[in-house]
Amino acid sequence: MKIKINLGAISEPMQSENLKTGDWGTHYPVVDKEKCTACKTCEQYCPDLCIEVKEFGEEKYAVVNYNYCKGCGICASVCPFEAIKMELKDIFKFEVC
Ligand code: SF4
Ligand code: SF4
Repeated sequence: MKIKINLGAISEPMQSENLKTGDWGTHYPVVDKEKCTACKTCEQYCPDLCIEVKEFGEEKYAVVNYNYCKGCGICASVCPFEAIKMELKDIFKFEVC
């Protein structure tokens, strides 16, 4: 008897960009643009290349692409200016009675 087993969600090479994996995590990073110095440390360490320093006129600060951010918290750990906080997603907040 043959059994078909699907081993993963990605079936073809170069297709992962099409999968919005941002909802896999429990937490998400929030950048405090007042504290961000645009040093790009977070950019260099993010394993998913989904935080990037961008320019907005005179301002420059890190912006997260939440479509792909898996909430690992590495960016918050490495930021030398404590400009990133990890927040728990609302769907994981429970009231204890
Ligand atoms: S590491 Fe911190 S200060 Fe540097 S760009 Fe990222 S958020 Fe901004
Ligand atoms: S939480 Fe992880 S995946 Fe998301 S931006 Fe930070 S380093 Fe990248």
